[in-house]
Amino acid sequence: MPLVFRNSMSRVKEEFKPIVPGTVRMYTCGPTVYDFAHIGNFRAYTFEDLLRRYLKYKGYQVTQVMNLTDVDDKTIRDSRAKGITLQAHTAPFVKAFFEDLSTLRIEPAEHYPAATDHVPEMIVIIKKLIEKGLAYQADGSWYFKIAAFPDYGKLAHLDKSGMKAGARVAADEYEKESVSDFALWKEWDESDGDVFWETELGKGRPGWHIECSAMSSKYLGNHFDIHTGGVDNMFPHHENEIAQSEGANGETFVNYWMHCEFLNIEGRKMSKSLGNFYTLKDLLEKGYSPLAIRYQLLSTHYRMQLNFTLDGLDQAAKSLERYNDFITNLSGFSGGESSGEADEIVKRLEADFETAMDDDLNISPALGAVFDFIRDINRLRSENKLSAAERDKALTAIHRIDKVLDFQIKQESLDAKIEGLIAERSQARKNRNFAESDRIRDELLKMGIVLEDTAQGVKWKRKM
Ligand SMILES: [Zn+2]
Repeated sequence: MPLVFRNSMSRVKEEFKPIVPGTVRMYTCGPTVYDFAHIGNFRAYTFEDLLRRYLKYKGYQVTQVMNLTDVDDKTIRDSRAKGITLQAHTAPFVKAFFEDLSTLRIEPAEHYPAATDHVPEMIVIIKKLIEKGLAYQADGSWYFKIAAFPDYGKLAHLDKSGMKAGARVAADEYEKESVSDFALWKEWDESDGDVFWETELGKGRPGWHIECSAMSSKYLGNHFDIHTGGVDNMFPHHENEIAQSEGANGETFVNYWMHCEFLNIEGRKMSKSLGNFYTLKDLLEKGYSPLAIRYQLLSTHYRMQLNFTLDGLDQAAKSLERYNDFITNLSGFSGGESSGEADEIVKRLEADFETAMDDDLNISPALGAVFDFIRDINRLRSENKLSAAERDKALTAIHRIDKVLDFQIKQESLDAKIEGLIAERSQARKNRNFAESDRIRDELLKMGIVLEDTAQGVKWKRKM
């Protein structure tokens, strides 16, 4: 079975064929750092994490670029409202963004270019567009001329019949109904304050869309494999990126476009007025674990709307416990008599997981395969029908898949849990609550942990 992705451009599933065999170059639109990212934003970033990890699982060498939009209408508006510099306004949100990525175990991209560091590259592209008759100046600003680029609208499948030729839009964000010539370079005005660059195109600042055209081609070349983002980025942002890049370079910009659907909260659109607007920090403060959040974000297929719920987080925590108990118990299992079934179970896991993921990252059956495997191996272990060699094979298989999912509780937090249980047990013994003390000892034993009472206190080790 080949790896297929649903291409937003063609609207059908296509076999993935990289431009350079064995490597994947992908661009993901990053955050606009004017505020803390919310859980809907992180849905897109975890989808991209799953994509990059699965490509690596398949043996590809991945180069991913995620930009930081640190200058646009919103960052300027909010920094001006606060009366601080653009940089002073965006820096804390950039820092928080990277902390959140790490909390959710989103693997770092290879490059995180910031728009403010790439203005000269943007000027180069705009000048090419001017030379080719694809850009013009009006009221001091520079605009892309849609009428001169017949391919305009091919990604969003736009109906251009009602379009007024020559209509212009200066704002970074607008609706499909307002399809118009869009700003590449915006002449400085008073609302920009001290945010401007003195360039050959005049004193001003870039439009949002040109930023991504410049940063993608700088790090990935003019033609690369995959471009991702949220569905809300498809128009106008990605449509405009295509117009700028293909208009300037005269070659195909991207082979595969992949877009992630919206996230709802408890069945409703997330909004500040409904009080269901969550940043990652909001959820952590409510006591939810980062891993449960990661699990819920990943466990719905990226092209379906995700209904994020607090109940769903509790469910996710249960699934994660089952997953992690399985690994801990299996690691602590010393091995029994083989019944010859394990090989088949391991092979089935790998085949079913890959068949599902190869089909446009179909995560539900992929997770189904993982939990079937857990059930089947658990049965063999409890019946003592698993040899030590089979145990190792099963562990290798789940660890390999965990490189994609990253659901395993890290050793440090596991050690902390063990130490916590040991402390609880000591307290129970002090209180002469031997039933509780025995219960904790049994719980630890199930985790593969044996306790030894020594003169220096309680020591623990993993059962081999
Ligand atoms: Zn972008």
